[in-house]
Amino acid sequence: MPDTGATELPFPANWHRRDLLELQCLRPDEIQTLLDTAQTLKDLTGGGRNKLSLLSGKTCANLFFENSTRTRSSFSLAAKRLGADTLEFSSAGSSVAKGETFVDTAKTIQAMGVDWVVTRHNTPGTPQLLARELDCSVLNAGDGAHEHPTQGLLDMLTIRQHRGGLEGLTVALVGDIAHSRTARSNLWGLKKMGAHVIVCGPPTLVSPRWAEIGFEVAHSLDEILPRCDVLNLLRIQFERQQARYFPSVHEYAALYAMNADRMRRAKQDILIMAPGPINRGVEITPEVADGPHSVILEQVTNGIAVRMAALWLLAGAADRQGSRHGESENPQTAPQAS
Ligand code: ASP
Repeated sequence: MPDTGATELPFPANWHRRDLLELQCLRPDEIQTLLDTAQTLKDLTGGGRNKLSLLSGKTCANLFFENSTRTRSSFSLAAKRLGADTLEFSSAGSSVAKGETFVDTAKTIQAMGVDWVVTRHNTPGTPQLLARELDCSVLNAGDGAHEHPTQGLLDMLTIRQHRGGLEGLTVALVGDIAHSRTARSNLWGLKKMGAHVIVCGPPTLVSPRWAEIGFEVAHSLDEILPRCDVLNLLRIQFERQQARYFPSVHEYAALYAMNADRMRRAKQDILIMAPGPINRGVEITPEVADGPHSVILEQVTNGIAVRMAALWLLAGAADRQGSRHGESENPQTAPQAS
């Protein structure tokens, strides 16, 4: 892979965050900066084929306490594409099995000299806890059913690439809204960027309270389908469900799966998205997942761009601010730009 070496990249004046914990707390201009930076880095790396040295000398640790295919590997690739080293940690086979706490494990990893901890955990709020305890930057790669901010960002980047923007679009999140962190990050992010967001699924999985805070609530995919510019089909999160929320997968699919028949009743340029992993035949049929409207694999590619942007922006803020628990050694230090 060619290394394009030094690259000048002006650091955005509006970016001061050293952690990426959720989209709910970000301002629209910060989301815009993340998306613009992701697009710039995607272009500068030739769609991810070339390496830059923007983050050389830094180390990114992946601290995953839950399964992951896309998120984990794409954080690693993002760090490597910008010249950083990576450290992989999985709870299986670690000292967690010997009784070490989550925070002690994270502090141990930090003591090896890491600049970012990327964490995934089934307990909501664990990234916030780490951000209070650690000096390095913390990125939330999914905390229970709370948020998955880089997923929300890569979804928005994918829509933006196809539609030029997000404002005014009608985007439906379909499926297990109750247990989906992807849903929550999309909801906050899309609303802040001016999209009209519909949450659609069985009443047992879509709370009417979403309507109280400005989202459209729907229970019939067939009714909303003709109005949708984008459908984001969420997986049923069986691993998080404590009860039966619908009679059977067959009945769920009959009402909510995107299939060839429903495609005929959708807008001609509808975008079909899914965060993955997809369950073929449950929320989406194979002909739709692999069809011309599907951008599911583009979402995966954009995941690297978004994670490159997040790592670079957080590192830039941390370099400028110095230690968060003490005096800055060199507050004027600009982010590494070469
Ligand atoms: N990969 C996403 C997540 O970790 C979506 C999913 O698992 O359904 O939340």
